[in-house]
Amino acid sequence: MRIETLTVGLFQVNVFLLQDEATGAWAMVDTSETADVVDEVREHLQGQELSTILLTHGHLDHAGALLPLQAAFPRAITVLPVLEVPMFRSLPEQGGWFGAPALNRPCGRIDREIRDGEEVVIGSHRLRFLSAPGHTPGQGCFYDDQDAFVGDLLFAGSVGRTDLRMGDPVVMQASLRRLLELPGHLRVHSGHGPDTTLAAELATNPYLGYLRREKGLAGGGRDW
Ligand SMILES: [Zn+2]
Repeated sequence: MRIETLTVGLFQVNVFLLQDEATGAWAMVDTSETADVVDEVREHLQGQELSTILLTHGHLDHAGALLPLQAAFPRAITVLPVLEVPMFRSLPEQGGWFGAPALNRPCGRIDREIRDGEEVVIGSHRLRFLSAPGHTPGQGCFYDDQDAFVGDLLFAGSVGRTDLRMGDPVVMQASLRRLLELPGHLRVHSGHGPDTTLAAELATNPYLGYLRREKGLAGGGRDW
């Protein structure tokens, strides 16, 4: 699968364009908050259809530009983690939560609510879905045997915030534990910042000390 990263908008969110090389089918992971993303996506697709929009979670910097994207690519199927529906529905108010009502966004349309362990098909390529709440009530990851798109679950050297509305640090730690059960060679594509791998984060991420202790691995870490 070919992956192109667009870093977009006020929050410098990573939007990923995925192409199944066998069929040419395109998918997109997350949207950013700005309609400017539409032109960037068009430029990359060069007239080809976008088949699927995958949302890792419902925060405005990840799902806020869904409506203009759906207007530009009306055939795309949009997939949202089922437990994330309440956060997604709050898009028209979320800007206000952060003192920036100008960032309130309309919701757009959800075509499929995905559950833990289910798959999405991009052309001839399959991605599995791992439910990984904590940063938000229903955030999830899409992954295959090489790449994982993790939203704001895990970053290079950090993890997603759990102090925002509907966040939960205890649930977050359990979700990171499940993610880190996947093979270490998986490339991690985070919602913000550079790519990394699961093995590199398990070895050095300061927030994963509790997992290193559980697994009997060297290296400390801060409590959180
Ligand atoms: Zn987020």
